Amino acid sequence: MNGKTVMACIDAAYALLKEHTDEIALLDQQIGDGDHIFNLLRGMDALFTVRAEIEADAFGPALDLAASKVLSTVGGSSGPLFFSLLSGMSKAAAGTTMDVAGFARIFTAGVDAVAHRGKTGVGSKTMMDVLIPVAKRFDELAAQGASARAVLDALPPVAEENMRATRDMLATKGRASFLGERSRGHIDPGARSSQLMIAAVCARLAQDIE
Ligand code: ADP
Ligand code: MG
Repeated sequence: MNGKTVMACIDAAYALLKEHTDEIALLDQQIGDGDHIFNLLRGMDALFTVRAEIEADAFGPALDLAASKVLSTVGGSSGPLFFSLLSGMSKAAAGTTMDVAGFARIFTAGVDAVAHRGKTGVGSKTMMDVLIPVAKRFDELAAQGASARAVLDALPPVAEENMRATRDMLATKGRASFLGERSRGHIDPGARSSQLMIAAVCARLAQDIE
């Protein structure tokens, strides 16, 4: 795990988000203002401008550089939230072992940082409804001594199931909360984009252990 791995994961996430641009734009038009996917793609385009620096860095510093680029380029609520994810992961990476247990700690620290920044847990119909259950499952698997392969296979279905569960939730945070009961019946765009990024990153990392 190093800056090259970080960039490979960003490339994989970008490719999958691109494929789902129209779908995510529509989700955010239904319960938000339509900009979510474009905020994310803009941030990732900015990351490509520092590709060489990210690739040359060690794992933690690469995440830190990506975090600051995201903060300065991604608008909306999701900019500071994704900054917190990457920067929280970067801080936790210092002095952590690069194994399943270490990565579970790193990911959980990132998710905790997002929860702290957004003041949101599960049940508010946001990206937290995907991120928190995935981090929890990751921790459980690490505690059981699961292999990297087992973790990479197990997490995408957890993300998918929890993303789908946001459809029937009432939004109580962010822009979608302004709709009250009318927020029900639509998947949360941030939950969908987070789930797709998790799927893409797990698939990309699985390639390296084949
Ligand atoms: P904005 O809502 O400002 O237009 P985006 O469209 O980029 O920002 O992001 C919207 C997504 O951000 C939502 O779908 C939701 O998942 C997520 N979100 C909003 N508020 C919060 C929060 N407080 N904590 C976690 N996620 C949030
Ligand atoms: Mg929006």
